[in-house]
Amino acid sequence: MNWISNYVRPKINSLFSRREVPENLWTKCDECGTMLFHRELTDNLNVCTNCDHHMYLSPRERFRTLFDGGAFKDVSVPAPPQDPLHFRDQKKYPDRLKQAQRETGEREAMLVAEGEIGLVPIVAAAQDFNFMAGSMGMYVGNAILAAAERAIDLQRPLVLFAAAGGARMQEGILSLMQMPRTTVAVDMLRDEGLPYIVVLTNPTTGGVTASYAMLGDIQIAEPGALICFAGPRVIEQTIREKLPEGFQRAEYLLDHGMLDRVTDRRKMRDELISILRMLRHMPAAVQGDLPAPGDGPMPEGLPQPERQTQATS
Ligand SMILES: [Zn+2]
Repeated sequence: MNWISNYVRPKINSLFSRREVPENLWTKCDECGTMLFHRELTDNLNVCTNCDHHMYLSPRERFRTLFDGGAFKDVSVPAPPQDPLHFRDQKKYPDRLKQAQRETGEREAMLVAEGEIGLVPIVAAAQDFNFMAGSMGMYVGNAILAAAERAIDLQRPLVLFAAAGGARMQEGILSLMQMPRTTVAVDMLRDEGLPYIVVLTNPTTGGVTASYAMLGDIQIAEPGALICFAGPRVIEQTIREKLPEGFQRAEYLLDHGMLDRVTDRRKMRDELISILRMLRHMPAAVQGDLPAPGDGPMPEGLPQPERQTQATS
C-alpha cells in the first residue's frame, strides 16, 4: 500500500469516471442527450422538453392521461394457451414471459380499457413496447378481439395505440395467425359502423403493420415514429441503395399519403376528442365544459391495477 495507489489513483479515476445519476430522478433523452428531471418529464407525457422527442409511455400511464379524470376500467382478456410450442432460445418462453411481467407489472403486451374521453365513451387498447417488444402473440390477438367485442357490446368507438417489433417468434405460426384474426376483429367493427382509430407510436413494425395497425378509419401517428413492415436496414441491404432522409418515419409517411395526421402527444387527447365527437355526431367540444385528464405524479413502484384503475360504471 502506498500513497499513489491509495490516494492518487482513486482521485484520478473519480475525475474521469462518469458521474452516477440516480435512475429514479433523471432520464436521458435518447435523441438530444439532455438530462431531464423525472417529474418534469412525466408532466410532459414523456416528451423531451428540449427537442420534443417522444419517448416510451406505458399503456397504463397513457390511459391515465387520456381518459377523463384518469378513470378507466380494464377490459378482461381471455388467456391463451401458454407456450404451445415449448419454445426455447437462450431462455424458456415462460421464463421470458415472467421476466416481462415482473419488469412491466402487466400481464401481457396489450392493455384494453373502457372509459370516457371528452365525455365520449370509448374502448381503448394500447400495446406495450417494453413487454417483449410489444410482440403480437395469441394474447395480443385475444386482446384486440376482446376490445372489438366490448366496443360492439357497448356500441362505442375503438381507439388503438400501436407499438410493436412484429410477431412473437416464440409462438411461431400461431402468432402469424393473429394477422387475419385481428383483421376480422376490425371488420366486425366496420360491420357495426363503429369508428376505429389507430394511433401509431414509435416503433410500429412487422406483422402489426400488415394487419390491425394499418386498418383504422383514421390513421394518426406520433412525431418521429418509425412505422414499417421491414426496417430501413433490411431494405438498404436488400436493394443496395441509400434510403432518403426520414424514410419510414411518421412525417415521411404523412407526405406520401400513408397517414392522415401526425400529432404531438401533448395535443393527442384534444385531437381524439374532436375526431370522436365529430364521428359520433356530437356537438364540438367546448374546452371549459370538458373534464380534465388524469394528472399529478405516477404512484410509486410498479403499476398496480387495483391502485390506479377506478371503475367508471
Ligand atoms: Zn431531447
